[in-house]
Amino acid sequence: MSTFKSRTLGAIASALAFTLAVSAGPACAQGEVNIYSYREPSLIDPLLKAFTAKTGIKTQVVFASAGLNERMASEGALSPADLLLTVDAGRLSEAKDAGLTQPVKSAVLDVVPATFRDPDGHWYGLTMRARVIYASKARVTQDAITYDELADPKWKGKLCVRSGQHVYNTSLIATIIAHKGEAATEAWLKGVKANLARKPAGGDREQVKDVHAGLCDIALGNTYYMAQMLKNPEQKAWADSVRIIFPESAGRGSHVNISGVALAKHSKNKDNAIKLMEFLASDEGQQIYATVNNEYPISPRIQPSEVVKSWGTLKPDSLPISNIAKYRKRASEMVDAVKFDAGPGN
Ligand code: FE
Repeated sequence: MSTFKSRTLGAIASALAFTLAVSAGPACAQGEVNIYSYREPSLIDPLLKAFTAKTGIKTQVVFASAGLNERMASEGALSPADLLLTVDAGRLSEAKDAGLTQPVKSAVLDVVPATFRDPDGHWYGLTMRARVIYASKARVTQDAITYDELADPKWKGKLCVRSGQHVYNTSLIATIIAHKGEAATEAWLKGVKANLARKPAGGDREQVKDVHAGLCDIALGNTYYMAQMLKNPEQKAWADSVRIIFPESAGRGSHVNISGVALAKHSKNKDNAIKLMEFLASDEGQQIYATVNNEYPISPRIQPSEVVKSWGTLKPDSLPISNIAKYRKRASEMVDAVKFDAGPGN
């Protein structure tokens, strides 16, 4: 009880602090939008600057890598949040299920394909990233690999992956449950574990680093990390040692996750918030996303950046992305059940 109270008071205090910070700024006739963002400020700043330049509407961002859904829930009607910006479809679905969002209908937002938005309009995808295979240029001759094949004993001791419990992996596993059922997915997961070169550790880029070092031949990673490594003097050699293979490009399509946006249930600046949602999905907003982040624009009207295009054509899995939320808990339980993170032979 006291924990709950102090947490609630803490939330109210931070809500007030936030409000004061906003109102301390210069008055602005066009108003404002307050954003709770799981996305790093450097990724969204260029979009927010362009939005303000175009509309005069100011933006305020509270960034956190975790806990924003919980913060909105404890703030309740006092929450200053107008928009929630996230990576990962699961968090958007969770926000809707927790009653933190409200539906938006907008002809501009209809540019977001139905697979990548909530059927009731509670959230919209803005960018896509695919979970692909990074294959050693020197040691892998295959130019197509399916997710199924990652469990094939021919890859024994040759695969590097980060923790099975990371959302990038539980999201992928969730889509495999949606396609193949639980029993087949568990068998697959055991096969993948048996093929690991070592205990899962590090982020996606560390897997590619280990391919470069000769520890493994193939790794799983998100697409945008390739662009990040190419820009990093230390990591460029890692990137140059691999090529991207889009799994299932001849079949059901590669697993993609999204970053997206939802309108907060207690938004005080609803009209401005919807204007920002529309800007992010507009040709101008999508073009900025494509160039700044090297993610895939969600709008079919905008092309990916040149470097992203150079990796080949992405064919996204056609199952609705809401399956990620539906099966992810089960996926996480399965990762534990097969002791995936204990590594091969354990
Ligand atoms: Fe990432």
